[in-house]
Amino acid sequence: MADVESRLIYLVDDDQDLRNLLGRVLRKDGHEVELFSHAEALVDAVRIRKPDLIITDLMMPGIDGMGLLQQIRDVRAYDDVRVIVVSAKSWESDREAALQAGADAYLIKPFDHATLRKMVDTIVRNGATLTYWGVHGTLPVPGPRTTRYGGNTSCASLELADGRIIVFDAGSGIRNLGNSLMGRQSLVAALLISHPHWDHLNSVPFFAPLYVPGNQISIYGAPQRDQTLRQLIEAQMDGVFFPITPGRFGSSVHYVDIREESFELFGVQVHTMHLSHPGACLGFKVVLGDKSYCYITDNELFLPGDTRADPHYMDQLTDFVRGAEILTTDTTYFDEEYPKFVTWGHSCVSEVAKLAHHAGVKQVHLFHHDPSHDDEKVDLKLEAMKAALETLGSSTVAVAPGEGDVFEI
Ligand SMILES: [Zn+2]
Ligand SMILES: [Zn+2]
Repeated sequence: MADVESRLIYLVDDDQDLRNLLGRVLRKDGHEVELFSHAEALVDAVRIRKPDLIITDLMMPGIDGMGLLQQIRDVRAYDDVRVIVVSAKSWESDREAALQAGADAYLIKPFDHATLRKMVDTIVRNGATLTYWGVHGTLPVPGPRTTRYGGNTSCASLELADGRIIVFDAGSGIRNLGNSLMGRQSLVAALLISHPHWDHLNSVPFFAPLYVPGNQISIYGAPQRDQTLRQLIEAQMDGVFFPITPGRFGSSVHYVDIREESFELFGVQVHTMHLSHPGACLGFKVVLGDKSYCYITDNELFLPGDTRADPHYMDQLTDFVRGAEILTTDTTYFDEEYPKFVTWGHSCVSEVAKLAHHAGVKQVHLFHHDPSHDDEKVDLKLEAMKAALETLGSSTVAVAPGEGDVFEI
């Protein structure tokens, strides 16, 4: 973490050894750290010099962690002070209470140093960690020709500083995501389903955390015709298409029908937009402080002059994704291939380049590759995207992420 920005951190814990140890760990990362043995002294220090982040133990003599949190959150001038509550209490209700009271994260003891450092880094940046689990569209294409980018279908995850996870789509990539989360206790996750085509929905039953008691998983998506999201998911697990029914889910599963709207999820704002694709397909924007992440697939950007296109759509989508740190978006085709697939609901390189450039996104991530595209083709598509952006004089950076690739936002 050599590039971590230095911040002022106040840490309070009545355990002297732990306090000193954590202080050393954080100072090693370049942060300025002040240590306190009790909350009263920390409150006095905040009045003199406001820190970027407070790390507080929950159980302490005198003012405890919740009392300290309340004192900080009662003062408007301290709104931008981030707070991590640390505790040996692993009850979900304690964690919920701390987050409700305004904590930015809840860290359960014991934890390893890497977990703390990553959490501090994500919180002070007001950021999140984006990971790809499947970047292909339409159909999984495993095999020797897709070893670098991976052959799974659409799935990406955005982990927030407090460990809660927003998952985009349930293509076959979600299986590896689920397996990677199986060690976590009391997982809190939300699945945002863009639309119910197979490559975005049919691997819901393979998301192993759904079967674990104690996990809380909400699934958001647009209803289709007269079918709710819940009916769509239950229909593919009705015993005919798949032998395990949703009645076997051990976790608490909550279904939410959404349309074009904005809502709060895990303390961040999520905005949705109807995309250019058959049926009701939603694009997502997650706002993280003054930054945003956009997940836009499946989506057809028609060529200029095509009378089948909504003339306002490109402008509306450009506004929606404007200024995003990362835009993950449908780049299914090369320009030369696209004329054969007009109205299939997917985009080609040159139109995606225009969208990303005109919206001023920092990075455009090529996503939802055609099943016929192997690693070599994805390399070529990335080169084509870079050339298209250069022609536009764009400062947008093009990336072709592969499975397992991680990006800090
Ligand atoms: Zn698709
Ligand atoms: Zn689709």
